[in-house]
Amino acid sequence: MQRLTFGSITVDAVSDGVLSCALTGMLPGADPADFRRLGGCDDGETLLLPMLTFVIGSVGKTILVDTGIGPTIGSLGRAGYGGTVGLLPQGLARTGIDPATVDAVVFTHLHADHIGWNVTDRNGELVPTFPNAEYIVSKSEWAFWSATQSRDIARCVRSIEERGQLRSVEDGFEPAPGVQMIATPGHTPGHASILVTADGSGCVIVGDAAHHPAEFEDPTLQPPYDSDPAMARETRLGLAERVEAEGLLVAGGHFPAPHVGTLVRVEGKRRWRWLGAG
Ligand SMILES: [Zn+2]
Repeated sequence: MQRLTFGSITVDAVSDGVLSCALTGMLPGADPADFRRLGGCDDGETLLLPMLTFVIGSVGKTILVDTGIGPTIGSLGRAGYGGTVGLLPQGLARTGIDPATVDAVVFTHLHADHIGWNVTDRNGELVPTFPNAEYIVSKSEWAFWSATQSRDIARCVRSIEERGQLRSVEDGFEPAPGVQMIATPGHTPGHASILVTADGSGCVIVGDAAHHPAEFEDPTLQPPYDSDPAMARETRLGLAERVEAEGLLVAGGHFPAPHVGTLVRVEGKRRWRWLGAG
């Protein structure tokens, strides 16, 4: 993805790697033709899922949205996923981002593939990868995960909380001017999307509110990982309506390259259009 610019705000995508899984495992009932058309599944069978983070620059502040899957594939390997991961440190370096200069890490949600680089193992000690950052999560998301015994949460989030770097916030929180967390629940109970707006244009980073743009075209497509399927469908529909009404760009946590596009009407139907495609 090329750098997006809204007024003085910039947005860059930085990938932590790519996982692959069976298309019908991720999105039961998916029509392979739609995925050949939209990307991410050229053979009609294997869906390639980039593990994306986003760097937002606003008024001298650097904000990282999610931290990827981390140095190893972890429990997803046992769930049938394959691929290459752990590329975020090199990706940030290529983008010119020193981890020590990140002011805030903002989470869409706390699944393992979005919190992996919260910490780095230094000779057996887990230290924050972003030592000067506040790590920001929605109150409802933290309320849910802090009540679980998840090992990923213990490793990647509790360790941050113990150092006093975790902050849980209400819906609508603005980590920087023009950057706002908006509640988009359903994939997880406190899932948030990140709305970036300036000078009448903007984009919404939807995390896993949709795993692939095809889910905006066909509301019946649904991954088995949505914790509340009905709420997730309602959220996707609400996002699609807002994107259309406000002319927003949409970037997803796992959308194939170029990772960003928008929704248009073609013969009355909602259609995805990649940024830069006609
Ligand atoms: Zn994810």
